Amino acid sequence: MKTIFEKIRDKEIPSYMLYEDELVMAFLDISQATKGHTLIVSKEAFADALETPDHVLSQMFVVAKKIAKALKQSLNPKGFNFLSNAGEIAGQTVFHVHLHVIPRYEPNDVTLAFLPNVSNQDFESLVTLIQAALS
Ligand code: AMP
Repeated sequence: MKTIFEKIRDKEIPSYMLYEDELVMAFLDISQATKGHTLIVSKEAFADALETPDHVLSQMFVVAKKIAKALKQSLNPKGFNFLSNAGEIAGQTVFHVHLHVIPRYEPNDVTLAFLPNVSNQDFESLVTLIQAALS
């Protein structure tokens, strides 16, 4: 079954398309978290960033930069969040990799708080554990 973003790619459902190339497309998010909120989406469907080939992920970020510059010029935000949710627990609702480009106008127009929730973290053990998985 096609993802909703494949249906947008194939023009089976409408979108507010801003940009397309061979690998990625960019269209306005239907839920505008802020004015100009845009999704950068792979043309081929991969579930999330971890499943996506490097060259596609790279192009997604290149296009995110292009879109952010256009948003900056046209809408004059003060900053951006670039965000890709992976997994239901992280808030992913469409399981076709995408990168949110969210223009920011006010300090609290989007809430995603990174609070220090882990107390007494043993950073040395943490690094050892993660580095072992990297090699
Ligand atoms: P996520 O929760 O990170 O998976 O984000 C999925 C995003 O896709 C949400 O922000 C939705 O508003 C957006 N979305 C879902 N359907 C459409 C659609 N037909 N056109 C544009 N954006 C959509």
